[in-house]
Amino acid sequence: MVERTVILPRWVYLGAGEVRTGAAVVVEGDRIVQILPAEQAEGIDGRRIELADKVLLPGLINMHTHAGAGPVGRAISEDYELPTGMPFYVPLSRLWRHAYREELREQFRAVIEWDVLGMMRTGTTTILNHASTDIEGYLHIAERVGVRTFAGPTIPLDVTHRLGQLSGGLEDRKQTTSEQAQLAELEELERLFGKWDGAADGRITMILGPAAVHTDEFSVLAGVGAAAQRLDCLVTTHLCQAPSELATTQERFGTTPLRVLQRAELANERLIAAHGTYLPDEDRQLAADTGITIVHCASRKAKEAVISPSVSFMDSGISVALGTDGFNCDMVEELKFTAMLGKIGVAQSHRPTAAQVVDLATSHAASVLRRPDLGVIKEGARADLIGVAITDPSIAPALDVVQSLVYYGNGRDVQFEMVDGAVVMEDGTFVGVDINGVRARAEAALTSIWESAIDAGVVNEVLPSINRSQALA
Ligand SMILES: [Zn+2]
Repeated sequence: MVERTVILPRWVYLGAGEVRTGAAVVVEGDRIVQILPAEQAEGIDGRRIELADKVLLPGLINMHTHAGAGPVGRAISEDYELPTGMPFYVPLSRLWRHAYREELREQFRAVIEWDVLGMMRTGTTTILNHASTDIEGYLHIAERVGVRTFAGPTIPLDVTHRLGQLSGGLEDRKQTTSEQAQLAELEELERLFGKWDGAADGRITMILGPAAVHTDEFSVLAGVGAAAQRLDCLVTTHLCQAPSELATTQERFGTTPLRVLQRAELANERLIAAHGTYLPDEDRQLAADTGITIVHCASRKAKEAVISPSVSFMDSGISVALGTDGFNCDMVEELKFTAMLGKIGVAQSHRPTAAQVVDLATSHAASVLRRPDLGVIKEGARADLIGVAITDPSIAPALDVVQSLVYYGNGRDVQFEMVDGAVVMEDGTFVGVDINGVRARAEAALTSIWESAIDAGVVNEVLPSINRSQALA
């Protein structure tokens, strides 16, 4: 018999700013089957979940992150003085390479799990993981903890190749991962499609993920373009993330990153491109016409003293979705950053609205993922849902629950979560997860990573201001 759950929230967010009160949402198996007045749901059999003083929303969709990267490098380089336009994590690339070594693989899985749980805890039900390491380890974790994911490793996988070294240039990159090695990574990834695409009752979808135009060989980009057609899959990448990327691309290809992607037959609706911060104005029309999606990672860029375009992209007809990138894991915080920095970006207080940013992270993201059954609360949709408490003195009472959530809430207000019809969190506590055990294992792994990185001179080499007493409590 199919399991039935009757959810009774105070408010239900239906999208496009529409909020309904006094409704019951009935879930059968993995689907929402009915939304009806709560009094009419009294006679319906099934488990009842009371979400008084909570708003029920579609689960949030994080469209760009690198699971596991955040816990390694959080709160190290955020206040570091960097050359203009350099992403603030670049000094950390050697630390990540150290953390991602083969001999630490098993230990590091606790760090990946910790990061995934951090995302789920704060309202994310779907993670697009542009995996920086150990894709299969991540997929096993996603399968076990119950999150929905679109995932594929970066090509090339080597993190120092991808992020560049402080002193290294193009030649160094070529030596780190050769063209042949990059093509072999693509071939191996196609094998993983057969094994993982559609796994975990359809919660896992495989994607392709060239790192960026300036780091990848053209044959690899073109290979990904052809493979995406063949596999009918989505592709993610980084696009116009830093000024140096545009300079390197100009030097290698004599044009802009988006035009190189177009040559490789990657500039189309399948493409989910992180950042776009330095997309040249003359490429805006092309971005709109080709149907690519730019993933706006507001908090990541704010740490570099940059407001990445979002509202102006939408004004140009460009599809925009939201992501955290690899440090922040809290998508509710990301909604707030998107709204606030969006207003500053266009110097207008009335846009984007709270409802618009929530829709970017739910229904719009779902349509980009070619999954209209996600990101929306309606009959027939998948039951990926979150319940957010509007009870704290810092947030209640709520005259407009969506504005309250975006401007005054944060991810820790998320108290209830359901993915694919299964309850994964209740009263802010994970169901069936030994969170203390994961924390202990992740802390042990991170301590040994940081200690050995300091001993090996990896951290001091790139961040002279960090020493043992600062890095380790
Ligand atoms: Zn990224």
